Amino acid sequence: MHQFENSLDFARQLDAHDPLKSFREKFHFPTFHEKTVRYFTGNSLGLQPKTVKEYILQELDDWQKYGVEGHFLAKRPWYAYHENLTDKVAKIVGAKPIEVVVTHSLTTNLHLLMVSFYQPKGKRTKILCEAKAFPSDQYALESQVKFHGLNLAEHLVEVGPRDGEQLIREEDILSKIEELGDELALVMIGGVNYYTGQLFDMKKITDAAHGVGAIAGFDLAHAAGNINLHLHDWGVDFAAWCGYKYLNSSPGGVSGMFVHERHANSPELPRFAGWWGYDKSKRFLMEPGFIPMEGAEGWQLSNAPVLGMAAHLASVEIFDEAGMDRIGQKRDQMTAYLEFVIDDISEKNKDRVSFELITPRDKTKRGAQLSIMAKGQGKALFDVLSDLGVVADWREPNVIRVAPAPLYNSYEDCYWFGQLLQEAIQ
Ligand SMILES: *Cc1c(COP(=O)(O)O)cnc(C)c1O
Repeated sequence: MHQFENSLDFARQLDAHDPLKSFREKFHFPTFHEKTVRYFTGNSLGLQPKTVKEYILQELDDWQKYGVEGHFLAKRPWYAYHENLTDKVAKIVGAKPIEVVVTHSLTTNLHLLMVSFYQPKGKRTKILCEAKAFPSDQYALESQVKFHGLNLAEHLVEVGPRDGEQLIREEDILSKIEELGDELALVMIGGVNYYTGQLFDMKKITDAAHGVGAIAGFDLAHAAGNINLHLHDWGVDFAAWCGYKYLNSSPGGVSGMFVHERHANSPELPRFAGWWGYDKSKRFLMEPGFIPMEGAEGWQLSNAPVLGMAAHLASVEIFDEAGMDRIGQKRDQMTAYLEFVIDDISEKNKDRVSFELITPRDKTKRGAQLSIMAKGQGKALFDVLSDLGVVADWREPNVIRVAPAPLYNSYEDCYWFGQLLQEAIQ
């Protein structure tokens, strides 16, 4: 289908026809390097939208001017600041507004959701997760199991790649779910694996979990703002993601959570509560006895960290303007182009280096990230690439991760990645 060429002219033609090309101008590109920076780490920390400064300054000005009264008098009153984000974030993840809230940080939200949705009882006590999940998720899962006084080895069941393979076969996840059956309490998987870039079929996994009576939750750190998600329609029970990767919402910025509508009115669900999750109409009566708000908002503990949310708001407005459909189309085409360029360089240098793309080649099984396993002199190669101005990401033992972000990367960036890779090999 693709008739790509690894040439500057060709890359520029693709850019000329890119419906999102003007969005690149909305971002600041790093200038710390003497060479032009080729930024491919939007999967780790997204670039700063130029509007972020204005949005944060608005809150600083309102704080200066109003002090505590800013909760009500600010241009965007702080007491309800998170509500500015809800509809736009809901669109990004394919949810109804009642199913989404922006609050806290990712690992915090995973814990809060697992407190509610991991309820080992009787025989049904096990969690199924992916092997080598992101470390924070591993620790969160381990500590949840221990929190219930359960034995880790028995209760945290991992599905990993088969011997000699890099990716996890979906059929292995599904058959493990079947096998665990009524012992399975929760399936908790990263929607896109942070290391390999593999995208899992969240609908199939959710259906399989529900089929045996288990709950399905996902960590969407590498999926939100990257993958075209339909969390509501897929029937996912809960999910959480961070705002600072593909969503470009400032280092350590706020996280989002999703709780399916079917759990919106379940005040009996156990939870760790705080005043910001309390029924809004009665919150300031400050009475004892927690009454949760309906929907995802009922999981909020604290009042909004407005400065971080201001950055998030600036960014999700850009997503809203671009739309996830166009972002998804460009993601597929640009990732395919980068893949083509890497393959071409790899082929031309096959006597010298050996690259293996461990990310699935099927575009329905990945997002914007390509993980290149560089056997032999991987780290040395990566270091030279960095000296040449490429900002990519190294993961031990031998993987280079590159992610062309559809909102601000260009086809020309992908072409230059290939040229610089060639230079680094030499
Ligand atoms: C980035 C990432 C995190 C980071 O967690 P924080 O709480 O935001 O520090 C956690 N899990 C996954 C899968 C990630 O990719």
